[in-house]
Order: sequence, then structure tokens, then C-alpha cells
Amino acid sequence: MGLSPGNPATERLYYHDSYLTEFTSRVTGVRDKGRRVYLDRTAFYPTSGGQPHDTGTIGGVPVVDVVDEEDCIAHITAGPVSPGEVFCRVDWERRFDHMQQHSGQHLLSAVVLEMLGARTIGFHLGAEVSTIDVELASLDARQAAEIERRANQLVIENRPVTVSFEDSSSASGLRKAPQRGGLLRIVSIEGVDRSACGGTHVRGTAEIGPVLLRRLGKAHGGVRIEFVCGFRAIRRARADFENLAQLGRLFSAAPDETPALAAAQQKALEASEKAVRKLAAELARLRGAELYRAAIPDAAGVRRTMQTAAALDDELRATAQGFIAGGKAVFLATVEDPPALLLAASADSGIHAGNAVKSVVTALGGRGGGSAQMAQGSLPSREALAAAIAQLKTL
Ligand SMILES: [Zn+2]
Repeated sequence: MGLSPGNPATERLYYHDSYLTEFTSRVTGVRDKGRRVYLDRTAFYPTSGGQPHDTGTIGGVPVVDVVDEEDCIAHITAGPVSPGEVFCRVDWERRFDHMQQHSGQHLLSAVVLEMLGARTIGFHLGAEVSTIDVELASLDARQAAEIERRANQLVIENRPVTVSFEDSSSASGLRKAPQRGGLLRIVSIEGVDRSACGGTHVRGTAEIGPVLLRRLGKAHGGVRIEFVCGFRAIRRARADFENLAQLGRLFSAAPDETPALAAAQQKALEASEKAVRKLAAELARLRGAELYRAAIPDAAGVRRTMQTAAALDDELRATAQGFIAGGKAVFLATVEDPPALLLAASADSGIHAGNAVKSVVTALGGRGGGSAQMAQGSLPSREALAAAIAQLKTL
């Protein structure tokens, strides 16, 4: 068997017939222990021009990738392929899906140019959705709906899609100036579009099926339009309906009523969350007052408490406020992870909480401070926290 360099050029059967899925061919060379296969002619489309490669079988061996090497096409197979004549089969479901998306892209790009004068500067055929990037500053939902409607109008008219080979010097009316000279493969949608393209296309726009525009975004200084065509559009619309119907059941309402109901519920939820926060603060303040009542005043008449908390949060601060509100009071709380503390002192306690925390915590390598009544600090370790608490307790 000859090796790849010097392989004869591969005849591209898909250039002339996108619907050809079964063919016989001759293996002209193999590499990588028979897993990189070269054929004299192939209907397998290689990844190029934004369209992913075909899959299928060569001599019964699955094809996992197809690579365009300019003159030759390399078929990457799951196992070794034997030399000689081989029977090949292209996975039609995958190929036809690609034909629907790629032909849909030509149609959409032509419609965007016709309606908004914007050129297409990028195309990606994805596993779920495809995208085109168009030279526009912005595109709103109303314009997207108009583009979608026009594209589907052209689908319904079933405009013929044809392939011709023309010299670049004489080919006219192309949507995009050709990037190379010589013979061009031109894909035309009757009365709508003429584009130089090596991709596989449907024979009439009706086969594209429904065209749905999805998300609009930004890309490369332009607008990125997500779209799905054909069976993908039907699958997507079905999934959208199922999701909406599920929401409708949750709201006990018709799907069309769910956006307004969801907005109303969100507003109600925000209001109740606000009320819960207010009640939690009130409860914490009362808990502080309760602790105050239970604390026994020392010789100087000052009540002290020492609490452990999960976090330095609003609730802890409210508890501290509730405690010192009684007067002649000092409230100290620790948080283990990360090591931190809170000190609150009533105005008549003779303690400036901010100054006390700042001097003790800073000396132990931590950070902290606050007002005369309420201060908090963080410490580098549990040992430092213990040392800080030992000092602050003696205030
Ligand atoms: Zn194309």
C-alpha cells in the first residue's frame, strides 16, 4: 500500500450529490496502522467551512473523523481498513441535519443582507445550535422576528437550491467576494442567494424545514444570532413547549399566562424575604435583650456575655445591639472559622469597642476596628483568636 504523501487526489462525490449515502470506492493508501484511510472517491464530507464532518462506515469499520488535506481527504476509522474495493455508507441522519442547518445558514445570511444590509462574518454549526455573526451594532427581538418570518416565507416557497461550477473571474452576484481564484463551486438559492461554498446542501428550501432564531448576543464587534433549522427546530419547539407546560402546571395556569404569574410571584417573594430579614433581626435583638436580663451585673454594675457564633452577620450584630441597649453592658462573640470576633459595649460601659478591638487584634497580626459601640476583627489563627479573647474579656 502506498503511504499518504503522493496519494492521488480524492474525488469528492458530495460536490455533485449531497444525497449520495452509499458508494463503493478503492482504498488508495492507509496510515496509522490502517486507521487513516484514503479513497479514490468519497461521499464523506470533511470538517470545513463551519460544517462538521460526516460519520458512517468504510468496509463496515466506523468512521470517526474526516479531514480535508486539500487534494486528499483522510478518513479516520475506529479500526484498520483492508485494502481493495470497499463499500461505504454515510450516516444519513447526521448528514441531513447538517444539510438543513447549513442551507438554513445561507438563507438566513441572505435575508439579513437583504433586510438590514449586514454581511455575515462567521458561521458555526454546533451540536445543539448554530450561529452566524453579522456586521450589525445591534439587533432587537422585533427585527429577529422579521428575519425569522422572511426566512420561513422563503422556505414555504420551496426555492430550488442548485450547485454550479464557475470561474471566479466571471462568477457574478456572489453574496461574498471569492477568497480564491480559479474554479468556484457556487451554491444558489433561486432569486435569493449565490455563494461560493463547498458544503452539502438541500435541493429546495422546503427541505430546510422550520427556521427558528434563538438567542441574540455579541461577537467580534457584531451580533451573534443563534438558530436551529429542520428537525432541530421541531425538537427545540417541543422541548420549549414541555418546559412551558410544566411551568403552567406549577402555576395552575395556561402556558401563555406563566410569564406574568412568575413576575408577580418573584415580586411577592422579594417582599416576603424582606419581611423575614426584618423579623430575624427583631428576633435577634429580643434574644440579646433576653441575654441581658439573664446576665448578673458585676461589682461595677456591668453585665457581660460571651457568645460563640457561626458568622459575623446581621443577626449577630442585632443580638449584640439588643444586649447593650440595656446599658452598662459588654457583649463579646467569637467565630471559629475563619477566626474572628465581635465586641459591643454600651456608651456608659467606659469601653470604646473600636479602639479596644483595633489595638488588641492588630498586635496579634489581625485586622479590625469599628465604632465606640460596635467593632469586629479577624485574626490569622485560632491561637491568636484565643489570645485576643483573653485580653478583651478583662476589659
Ligand atoms: Zn456554505
